[in-house]
Amino acid sequence: MSNHTIMKTLQELTRPNICRLKPYSSARDEYNGAAASVFLDANENPYNLPHNRYPDPMQRELKEKLSKIKKITPDNIFLGNGSDEAIDLVYRAFCEPRIDNVVAIDPTYGMYQVCAEINDVEYRKVLLDESFQFSANQLLEAADEHTKLIFICSPNNPTGNDLLHSEIENLIQNFEGLVILDEAYNDFSETPSFLEKLNAYPNLIILQTFSKAWGCAAIRLGMAFASSDIISILNKIKYPYNVNELTQKQALEMLHRYNEIENWIKMLKEAREELETEFVKLACCIKIFPSDANFFLARVTDAGKIYHFLVGEGIIVRNRNSVSLCGNCLRVTVGTKVENEKLIKALKAFKIG
Ligand SMILES: *Cc1c(COP(=O)(O)O)cnc(C)c1O
Repeated sequence: MSNHTIMKTLQELTRPNICRLKPYSSARDEYNGAAASVFLDANENPYNLPHNRYPDPMQRELKEKLSKIKKITPDNIFLGNGSDEAIDLVYRAFCEPRIDNVVAIDPTYGMYQVCAEINDVEYRKVLLDESFQFSANQLLEAADEHTKLIFICSPNNPTGNDLLHSEIENLIQNFEGLVILDEAYNDFSETPSFLEKLNAYPNLIILQTFSKAWGCAAIRLGMAFASSDIISILNKIKYPYNVNELTQKQALEMLHRYNEIENWIKMLKEAREELETEFVKLACCIKIFPSDANFFLARVTDAGKIYHFLVGEGIIVRNRNSVSLCGNCLRVTVGTKVENEKLIKALKAFKIG
């Protein structure tokens, strides 16, 4: 595939202080030669194995194994303390506070805006249409010469739907900055990941996570996939030991349990269909929106009242009433069969009015 993008050079997109930066060099960075048995380089305690040793700062074994599953070279992989770390790092690498700006779809995942505010970067929202789709042209019209990043999320949170593949492609090909495509929920979708097209798009950063389909929200492990030049910039500014040893170990164990994960995905997709079928029949349900994720958005008669009623029953869903286009909407995560049945049973007992 040829390169269709009109991207600025990475040097033009990167903050000058980051281009100039000489990164911190840790003991474990400087030593990565032949097998050694005596480590007296990092001021570690020689007792309390294995937790006494600093972890591999570049997570080499984990990236090697991941690269086989994701069919992408380790040079194209960044690993962080959740996707949230990668989101923060792209601001710090590319956006000059108070000068640069970013554009994003609205509604979407809240962390893009929070990180913009923390980094003092202007955040420009472009409203989705009634079917929760976006227009590449509208996003590009909201951009100017200081727009470094455009954030999109597919399947989107909290709406649950896939964004149109053709429109995502249109955006990547016509934006001169970087497009961040958050695929946290892609495992639950029938649409293929953009990962297989990564090599054709030097301005694309894809985010995925261990927190959803992989069942590992507790270990905090997020993945970013991009050109090796973009990955090098993220590696240069991350904390040296950003992914701890326990996380790396547990992630490796999960990679061996790949079949189990595929089975969870299949079960959750079936459970989503069953839960949706029961949910639409409820007196308090006005409509549910089509979902390609492990949750769905439902418009109900009174989101606030129903949310508090469910809390009283010991059941927590997410009230999205105050989010753009989501008036009176609840976001419901698909649980186990038993949990889903408890939710439906409780809502059948809810009295409207
Ligand atoms: C849950 C979620 C994530 C995951 O974030 P982590 O920091 O990896 O747990 C990322 N993006 C979206 C849109 C999400 O909903």
